[in-house]
Amino acid sequence: MERLQKVMAEAGVASRRKSEELITTGHVKVNGQLVTTLGTKVTNKDEVMVDGVPLSRSKLVYYLLNKPRGVISSVHDEKGRKTVTDILADEVTTRIYPVGRLDYDTTGLLLLTNDGELANKLTHPRYEVDKTYVAKVKGIPTNDELKQLRLGVKIDGRKAKPAKAKVLNTDYKKGTAIISVTIHEGRNHQVKKMFQVIGHEVLKLHRESYGFLTLQGVPGGQWRKLKTSEVQQLR
Ligand code: URA
Repeated sequence: MERLQKVMAEAGVASRRKSEELITTGHVKVNGQLVTTLGTKVTNKDEVMVDGVPLSRSKLVYYLLNKPRGVISSVHDEKGRKTVTDILADEVTTRIYPVGRLDYDTTGLLLLTNDGELANKLTHPRYEVDKTYVAKVKGIPTNDELKQLRLGVKIDGRKAKPAKAKVLNTDYKKGTAIISVTIHEGRNHQVKKMFQVIGHEVLKLHRESYGFLTLQGVPGGQWRKLKTSEVQQLR
């Protein structure tokens, strides 16, 4: 037995608070009966409908993928390109979706789930999960330029939160550098834009960790299920 608003949130209807609102304002039926009081509990067998649409009650699943290049971080692509869910299609029969996005040419750690509540929480700016990227950039950033990233550069007219930035390697012959960058926001093309501001094009980008999760034991293009304890830790 679980609280109705929790079941709704997990199915990705809305946050728990918004789901409570949907209940009290008369949008939700359980087994055909309108329910407007909070505190109602339901089991897997109860049919929950929100505005006449039945909730999907699939078991919650969680996957960690090491995304390869040339794959779209969405469920479906209009142009027919391969998506991250295609990679897991043989294993997963329920509808899962990525938690946030990695660009088409970015590789690395991406979570996929059908747990809408957790996905909402993890992608909310208030929930500051550290994401560490390794970027190969054109040119060798100076200390002053990296300092700008650490203080927070302005992208799309809004200041990014301070990032951690560390030089891992420099190749003076080729004129490139490998930089480790940790951010906790998830703005569109954020890392590439941050480097653009300090005048260094990102040539390659790889996400090596997401909070406490790393890619250890998961080669490129492969995936594993999250352990129950890891899911608990993310919640
Ligand atoms: N920042 C980017 O610019 N691209 C990504 O894929 C992820 C973070």
